[in-house]
Amino acid sequence: MKFDSLGLSDSILKAISEKGYDQPTPIQAQAIPPVLEGKDVMAAAQTGTGKTAGFTLPILEILSKGQRAGANQARVLILTPTRELAAQIGESVDTYGKYLPLSSAVVFGGVKISPQMIKLRRGVDVLVATPGRLLDLYQQNAIRFKDLEILVLDEADRMLDMGFIHDIKKILALLPKSRQNLLFSATFSDDIRHLAKGLVNNPVEVSVTPPNSTVDLVEQWVCPVDKNRKSTVLSRLIIDKKWHQVLIFSRTKHGANKLTKLLESDGINAAAIHGNKSQGARTKALADFKAGNIRALVATDIAARGLDIDQLPQVVNFDLPNVPEDYIHRIGRTGRAGATGKAVSLVCADEFKLLADIENLIKQLIPRTELEGFSPVNKLPESRLNTKPAKLKKPKKVNPGHRDGQRSGELAAGHDHSGKPAGRNGQNQNQSGNRNKPASGNAPRRSRV
Ligand code: AMP
Repeated sequence: MKFDSLGLSDSILKAISEKGYDQPTPIQAQAIPPVLEGKDVMAAAQTGTGKTAGFTLPILEILSKGQRAGANQARVLILTPTRELAAQIGESVDTYGKYLPLSSAVVFGGVKISPQMIKLRRGVDVLVATPGRLLDLYQQNAIRFKDLEILVLDEADRMLDMGFIHDIKKILALLPKSRQNLLFSATFSDDIRHLAKGLVNNPVEVSVTPPNSTVDLVEQWVCPVDKNRKSTVLSRLIIDKKWHQVLIFSRTKHGANKLTKLLESDGINAAAIHGNKSQGARTKALADFKAGNIRALVATDIAARGLDIDQLPQVVNFDLPNVPEDYIHRIGRTGRAGATGKAVSLVCADEFKLLADIENLIKQLIPRTELEGFSPVNKLPESRLNTKPAKLKKPKKVNPGHRDGQRSGELAAGHDHSGKPAGRNGQNQNQSGNRNKPASGNAPRRSRV
């Protein structure tokens, strides 16, 4: 299939071709036509499938035909869970819309609000926002939704995991009833379907790949290692294997900082990216990494979510994630849009259970290779594929700390942290995004990092 058969105008086709895309990805081929027809769409698609263009291209097409937004109004609202994802969607809007006379703005927390207020004054065609900052802007009369035509909820599952459900509900209550709704989520758990019920009308459901298929494009291996030798092994791998651009996942912010220092002390240019870093530091680290000035970027799951780094060759799981689905998201940073990538997990004996859960989720045993001279003293038990689905984790207590996209400072007064953030359960999901059986009890909660 070609892009020109999808009903997009020449201005958009030109921008796509300059970006080097030959043909639409499956999610684009399926999502673009119904969005152009004005239908509500529920799409099961992960980062890496080309989903951003899947909603951005038809939205730009629709917007190019209508009237400009009035002062402090937005015609399209794209809600995303993290600042990085918001910035990346903003870049996509600019790239694909470069030949259209449309305006856009990206707003998120952690930076000054006043420049964002000024930007919104004249109205924008596309507003990309994280939920908390959007509510702050609304409270300060910087944004109104009378002219809103389309709402996009991107990475809806992650938004629920991060506890944004209350903010999302507040935002939905502010929007005009008559509007087009697009809901994108990596998985369609019961929580997402519940949210969708009050959101989309008669939606077209599209699903491109089973949730786990990204893994097929990635060459994965496990390096069994003792916990206390992980950082030494990592430095050795980076140096010996001449990895020039490696994204490393750490489970905690503290761990990311510590590892960054250790890598630096081994002469490897490294930077950390996580929720405690200022927005400026995060943007700079990402830009330096993309430009090749930083060799190792150490990230927590939430900060890395949605990072779009073209042809990232190497991902390292320094710690395995607590939630097995995060493994798929992590290694999805490599092997993107058809390219093959590599992912190694440094796994110590304590993490065996996490490894087994991951292997059961992806339905394959990950090959193991020890690094010579670093054979672990605490052996990693052999794993076997289980026929039973991986056990769900117990929900954890909500830690009312600052989150990406969440309001901060005095503006956060009255913000409700108490609600139960919904979890995600990819295990009962089939290819069309339908669940085979209802969830029972509490859904799992991922730990915040
Ligand atoms: P996304 O899933 O939206 O994060 O996109 C993943 C990556 O795929 C991004 O680097 C896009 O630039 C790239 N991409 C999106 N659409 C296409 C396409 N039709 N052909 C090739 N690459 C694409």
